[in-house]
Amino acid sequence: MNASPISKISLEGRDFFVKRDDLIDPHLAGNKYRKFYTLLQTPKEKFTKIISYGGTQSNAMLAIASLCQKKEWEFIYYTKPLSAAQRENTAGNYSEALALGMKHIEIEESLYRDFISSLGVLKDENTFIVEQGGAVEEAKRGLEVLAQEIREQVAVDKNHTFKAVATPSGTGTTALFLALALPEYRVYTTPCVGNVTYLKEQMTALCEIPQNLFILEPTRKYHFAKPYREFYQVYEKLLESGIEFDLLYAPGMWLALQEQTKESVLYIHSGGVSGNASMKERYFKKFKVAN
Ligand SMILES: *Cc1c(COP(=O)(O)O)cnc(C)c1O
Repeated sequence: MNASPISKISLEGRDFFVKRDDLIDPHLAGNKYRKFYTLLQTPKEKFTKIISYGGTQSNAMLAIASLCQKKEWEFIYYTKPLSAAQRENTAGNYSEALALGMKHIEIEESLYRDFISSLGVLKDENTFIVEQGGAVEEAKRGLEVLAQEIREQVAVDKNHTFKAVATPSGTGTTALFLALALPEYRVYTTPCVGNVTYLKEQMTALCEIPQNLFILEPTRKYHFAKPYREFYQVYEKLLESGIEFDLLYAPGMWLALQEQTKESVLYIHSGGVSGNASMKERYFKKFKVAN
């Protein structure tokens, strides 16, 4: 695959560079493409089945569904029971993943934890289990490839003058492995799920946090996947500048960059735009913004 391009945008008078990982593929794009790079390179014959679990609108779920369709692997995905609203919702990642062939199994709330921790018993040598959000050591290779692409693009274009890169965190796998692979840059991230302490715990479980990784603390407390007016505002401004970002992770990262950094930054687009259809319905209900 060719390197994803680097675009330049202006946000409230400040220029930013954006690494367009959103353009890689309609379903398997952004950081999920990077995190599942190793699986994507795995020969078809190696597995017959992938098992994973997590949220019903997860970007990782859709990425795995797309990967399994390309590889002709069976994809089994476990979640807690769907809410009535989710069952009716035909927009967003869930219905797209079903259309790509995902088999969805709901596990009763009271059994869910134990069921997930015993998933290993379902595994044989032809099955691969992807932990929630794809927080796997295998993600490392894909982020090394991203780092190398960035280096090569900087080498051939003098206008790529950024001094830092940025990407938002859920589990922190992407930001951590990117910082390890790009020691010559400052890497900014911010926690979008939980707080700074939780994010550091998640990262430390994978490896030591490198010196060039800077975790920006949000200036106010945000709960994951809740609609916030300032999130929608920055989403719309970015859209006006020409690029659509996701509504779950990107707004928090952009606000933190605007508030807490000054230098020229390359924002790594982490994908997830396909999840905006279901998020917009929630924004519409809460704030009556146009959808
Ligand atoms: C999954 C995801 C993230 C978080 O990635 P982690 O590696 O878990 O930190 C960020 N942005 C988008 C759009 C995502 O889908």
